[in-house]
Amino acid sequence: MEVYLSENAFVGLLVSTVEVYRRECFGILLGHREADRIMVDFVVPYQSAVRKFQEVHMDWYRSQRVAEAVRAATRWELVGDYHSHPMYGDKKATTKLSRTDHQDFRDDGTSIIVAINDGHRRQGWGYVKGGLISGSINGYSLRLAAYHKEERKAVVRVPLVCPYAVGFMAKTKGPSPVEVRPE
Ligand SMILES: [Zn+2]
Repeated sequence: MEVYLSENAFVGLLVSTVEVYRRECFGILLGHREADRIMVDFVVPYQSAVRKFQEVHMDWYRSQRVAEAVRAATRWELVGDYHSHPMYGDKKATTKLSRTDHQDFRDDGTSIIVAINDGHRRQGWGYVKGGLISGSINGYSLRLAAYHKEERKAVVRVPLVCPYAVGFMAKTKGPSPVEVRPE
């Protein structure tokens, strides 16, 4: 099993994570399932996540409503969820699942964890050992990991694949601004 991220999904995860830093973001993964991989085409951040100390908990009924709206409105399926692990004080964030993450993991579920830390140097994006993806953007250092749970089996980390992310280097400067005047 592996989890494949589209360009849209990759950018969505970065933006969602950076937006609420140093708080946690939470959202859903939309895409489709193939025999031995899960394709993530889009991510949708939840606006209603209740942020408790270091953990995000979702109201189950809200999740159901979102899932139903997705089914009714798109050809995509709800294939999993994601949340970020932000740096807390001086404590570095990791992509490891917390005890609550383990408890909340559903059978046949897939989760992406994005660890975000203050970064000091600009770092290109690429795969790191263990099937993770890491890199930096706007002074933050990010690391993404995917987890999956087969029915009645233990949660395992699965490779995260994103050809778009590899070699991705965040821009530091846009084009020069052009002055505009009223006509
Ligand atoms: Zn977590």
